[in-house]
Amino acid sequence: MDPVVVPRESHSLSRQNISQEALRVLYGLKEAGYVAYIAGGGVRDLLIGRKPKDFDVVTDATPNEVRRVFRNCRLIGRRFRLAHVFFGQTIIEVATFRSDQTPDEADEAQNGVHHVTSDDGVIVRDNVFGTPDQDARRRDFTVNALFYNIRDYSVIDYVGGLADLQARVMRFIGDPVVRCVEDPVRMIRAVRFAAALGFTFEPLTEQAIRAESGKLALANRSRLYEEVQKLFFCGAAQRAYELLRDFGLFEILFPEMGSWLGPKSGTPPCRRISEALRQVDEWRQAGRDVSPALLFAVMFGGMHEARAGEMTAQGQHRGLALHSVTLEHFGGLTDRVQVPKMVRYRSAEILASQPRLTAEGGKRAKPLTTRAFFPEAVAYLEFTVRLTGEHREALEYVRTLPWEPSPEHDFVPGRGRDRRPGGGRRGRRGKSFRAPRGEAGGTPDTGGGDA
Ligand code: ATP
Ligand code: MG
Repeated sequence: MDPVVVPRESHSLSRQNISQEALRVLYGLKEAGYVAYIAGGGVRDLLIGRKPKDFDVVTDATPNEVRRVFRNCRLIGRRFRLAHVFFGQTIIEVATFRSDQTPDEADEAQNGVHHVTSDDGVIVRDNVFGTPDQDARRRDFTVNALFYNIRDYSVIDYVGGLADLQARVMRFIGDPVVRCVEDPVRMIRAVRFAAALGFTFEPLTEQAIRAESGKLALANRSRLYEEVQKLFFCGAAQRAYELLRDFGLFEILFPEMGSWLGPKSGTPPCRRISEALRQVDEWRQAGRDVSPALLFAVMFGGMHEARAGEMTAQGQHRGLALHSVTLEHFGGLTDRVQVPKMVRYRSAEILASQPRLTAEGGKRAKPLTTRAFFPEAVAYLEFTVRLTGEHREALEYVRTLPWEPSPEHDFVPGRGRDRRPGGGRRGRRGKSFRAPRGEAGGTPDTGGGDA
């Protein structure tokens, strides 16, 4: 089908806002005689005046052909080969146009398929190269399917994305129910883009998400973890949370937290989680790093504190109670969202250290300053003070303490072998994999606190 082509003088996308590295890749491909477009979020964001996170390039060159054009290039991926072009720290990802058809369908259509089989001989459907039209249509939302053509600086629209950008709506490409069911993660993506861009939903897209929200339980757990992180770090976590709740997606992602919140909105537990996510948005806006462990600590903290409260009422040490309720919750959660062990333990430590951090106006917090999680624990306290007005004095005091992370004491990111997140990701997992200390489930350093 013929696309709408908007010439350079009729759109607002300027080359000045495209990174030098992306431009070098686009021109390199063009000069070698290939089609080269920017696709996805880069085009979308530039057209609405946002700064893109990155630029993805699509081309009619096969991965091997891309490699011949660039010396600084590596091919990655087994299911679908992609080219990575390196410029120091910056990587530009180059994908060959692909189709959503299965290889069989494509064969029938006599489409000139590049069959690639996996080791067990199975032809993987993702490996079908396609046309620009097909490549646009396999994408999730119309606003994510626009192309910027380096040859004539035009914007190419196969799916009505420009009109939807103008109207600021999220609309699935194709049949919305089918698109939700075939990849439920797209429902979370819809929420992320709507929240981050301040867009609304096209009615059939919204209907499909409401109807199919339960399918999210079938999504791959590690992909969900990745998308959940992107969702809550998108800068509009509070809005994203409200949308997740409204669509019935929240309780599918986080079943225990969902039942703890109950069906009603606006209750104190709902307000607390909403406040927690507002805090995350503000930290991000202020340029502060928020780790996944801190995100989950503030987000789930209300429930964990309440549960730990029940245990301390029966004489349990508060720090230990916080540690165990946190790990217990995460233990169940990994059925849905694969939160790495490292993050779960870190989150538990952030919470478990709070009684000690606040005891005697912070005067007993010194031993915590050698721990890797100390800054996150202080950030958690900052949120508590803001929420409750309590422990202000302790916060002021612990903020004056220098952080002196000690590798002897526990895991410090970036220090030495096996002390990186993931414990030796560069090496082979297996026998040589040793969990960093904090991960092995040792006794938390909760001190006496207010047991
Ligand atoms: P961001 O600014 O967050 O990077 P993005 O739109 O670039 O947003 P990515 O996750 O980087 O999103 O994906 C790049 C593009 O790949 C998307 O714009 C979309 O066209 C396509 N895409 C990604 N995930 C899916 C999916 N699950 N189904 C269909 N298309 C997808
Ligand atoms: Mg992107």
